[in-house]
Amino acid sequence: MIDLLVAGGGPAGLATAIHGAKAGLEVVVVERRPGTLDKACGEGMMPHTVAHLERLGVAPLGMPLRGISYLDGDGRADATFRTGTGRGVRRTVLHTALADLAETMGVRTVHGDIGTVGQDAESVFAGGLRARYLAAADGLHSPIRTALGLSQPCQDRRRWGIRRHVQMAPWSDRVEVRWAPGSEAYVTPVAEDCVGIAVLTSSRGGFDQQLRAFPALADRIRGHAHGQDRAAGPLRQKARSRAAGRVLLVGDAAGYIDALTGEGMGLAFGAAEKLVKCVVAGRTDDYDRQWRALTRRYRWLTAGLVGAGSVSTIRSRIVPAARALPMVFAGLVNQLAA
Ligand SMILES: Cc1cc2nc3c(=O)[nH]c(=O)nc-3n(C[C@H](O)[C@H](O)[C@H](O)COP(=O)(O)OP(=O)(O)OC[C@H]3O[C@@H](n4cnc5c(N)ncnc54)[C@H](O)[C@@H]3O)c2cc1C
Repeated sequence: MIDLLVAGGGPAGLATAIHGAKAGLEVVVVERRPGTLDKACGEGMMPHTVAHLERLGVAPLGMPLRGISYLDGDGRADATFRTGTGRGVRRTVLHTALADLAETMGVRTVHGDIGTVGQDAESVFAGGLRARYLAAADGLHSPIRTALGLSQPCQDRRRWGIRRHVQMAPWSDRVEVRWAPGSEAYVTPVAEDCVGIAVLTSSRGGFDQQLRAFPALADRIRGHAHGQDRAAGPLRQKARSRAAGRVLLVGDAAGYIDALTGEGMGLAFGAAEKLVKCVVAGRTDDYDRQWRALTRRYRWLTAGLVGAGSVSTIRSRIVPAARALPMVFAGLVNQLAA
């Protein structure tokens, strides 16, 4: 019997599969999309995310990130990473690196929909396969989380993300977060000739419409070619638990707050490692507690910032406060970077 079946071949699923293979498990990934996978993402990896990838043995090509800058119409505040360097990496480059390593390590990938999940005392069955455990890494809207009754309704204001790649040389070695009254634009260098821009917003509308809130950025990228836009959301997704019997949730499927602080992939990689350790030790009953402990600091900081940003009087003071209190700003950025 397969030891670990993984639903979803995104970063969380592939990292889980690689950790599993390293631990000597027989792992099969079921991914419904063929080819090299792309996704709406800011593509900024914090230093802790890069460290997770190094532990896995993956070093995707990208651009070094030395810190985070907050900008509004009047100026900017800069915070430098103290614990290492981050990296801007295109999702397609990351997917190729993770998928190649997984294949080298003997992970089998099957293309198709995982479908309905069933389980008994000894095994779980899905996608025509039977395994000892199933890692549900099926993304933000995880059908498995919902089917198992683990999804929780969410009352928070809905936010979406939309991303565009612009063909031009990066002008900064930091992720620039530009704050407008109802949205933020993330500018991440991802290649020598490419800049990724992700807009996070609670209002609907295409990329060009969203860009109107950032006139200086619009001026800067005007006339440069760009790729196909990709969108995702609503971002906030709640799960009452990360485990139901032999099924364990990982990555965005496990619950997501917002892309505002850019730590989604790092948390997915950290949780993937913990999930596999729990499976190997036969302690899957402890996985939910370990997930909560791993993500607590990030969840609080991200929820706090999203909450502050939803109140217009506080929102307009975020960048001035970061400028006025550079040590506090750097401290908060480094809480998320480590
Ligand atoms: C706008 C935006 C900006 C972001 N910026 C950043 C950032 O800068 N840095 C960062 O670290 N994170 C960022 N994130 C978060 C990051 O993109 C996610 O945390 C990350 O993609 C989670 O990976 P995952 O593998 O859990 O999910 P996904 O990448 O969504 O992968 C899930 C996979 O499951 C597959 N799947 C779904 N259902 C099934 C099924 N039934 N059967 C088989 N396969 C299935 C899908 O095809 C998909 O490939 C951002 C997110 C958004 C939306």
